[in-house]
Amino acid sequence: MITHFFEIVYHDFISFWGLNALVEIFRSGQYEKLLTLEGIKACIFPILPFLLLIEIIRAAVYKRFKIEDYKVPFLIFVFNRFVGRFISIAAISFCIGALSKYAVISTGFTWYWLVYGYIAWEFSHFIYHFLAHKVRLFWCLHASHHAPESMNLSVSYAHFFLEGPYADVIRTSICILAGVNPPLLFLIMFIDGTWGTFIHIGENIMKDARLGVLNRFILTPSHHRVHHARNPLYMDTNFCNLLNIWDRLFGTLQKEEHHTPVVYGVTRKINPTNFWDVYFGEIVFLVRDIAGAPGLKNKFLYLFMPPGWSHTGEHKTAKIMRRQALQENDLPEENDDEPEMMDLEKIPAV
Ligand SMILES: [Zn+2]
Ligand SMILES: [Zn+2]
Repeated sequence: MITHFFEIVYHDFISFWGLNALVEIFRSGQYEKLLTLEGIKACIFPILPFLLLIEIIRAAVYKRFKIEDYKVPFLIFVFNRFVGRFISIAAISFCIGALSKYAVISTGFTWYWLVYGYIAWEFSHFIYHFLAHKVRLFWCLHASHHAPESMNLSVSYAHFFLEGPYADVIRTSICILAGVNPPLLFLIMFIDGTWGTFIHIGENIMKDARLGVLNRFILTPSHHRVHHARNPLYMDTNFCNLLNIWDRLFGTLQKEEHHTPVVYGVTRKINPTNFWDVYFGEIVFLVRDIAGAPGLKNKFLYLFMPPGWSHTGEHKTAKIMRRQALQENDLPEENDDEPEMMDLEKIPAV
């Protein structure tokens, strides 16, 4: 019984540090595997958890370590490990099995299909992430990730347990329908996951995260800091993960401006150190708004309109607030070709 307990702790420890594949290679003595794609992946997995450790140590050395910055993401990580562990894997397998036969083209495992697959993946990521910000119901799943009020690598673990499956169903379905070859899709997911964690690197380790000239071509940690900001100018921008093509195309790309330092967090009053508020607070507010709304139509609209929409007409959506900020800063309204949400207000009252 006790040995079983220690085995579980050992496995969780090894897998948190991303060491499973490396341990396996060292155990088997097949060191030549290190030169294969599997081997390279095995070496990359532990980098980000160890960077997180360095980030914490640096913060401690410089006496800037605040337990609140790490506590809630850590609690969420533990909670998700127990509750949401297998749902994502099941969702991905289901989508691949059900949709492969409807793929528009069939592709192979080559570099040019990797480029195609990555563009398709970024598109599917944009769709999932855009809806997560623009549909209140989906925002309830995504808001936990935006609650932390400082940026560090542990934030990349802070997700509501149902968000993974929701994101995976949308992204896998679109990619499989676009004909992305499943083994290639797993490679893309690996690159995306690694980069997706890296862009949460804290200011303790990297003060200016624009990455020089790269800031013009890809989505850098600086862009993702902007995405996590609650400054009106930055709200609901930079939905992509690595390639920023779709943000460019839909007018949602926003660079970090020197005159506007990023303020992290969400706009509602929240206690970022309270796990329950961070994890379930958004759902509680939605239920309250629905309960208080007059008529079925308004109740329904609260579910699907963007956060900040109000049945009284006093909307405080990110789009309205950003438009004001752009005018105040005298910046062009690049955001105007942002895809519009369904015009649900035109649905007749029930
Ligand atoms: Zn987001
Ligand atoms: Zn993030």
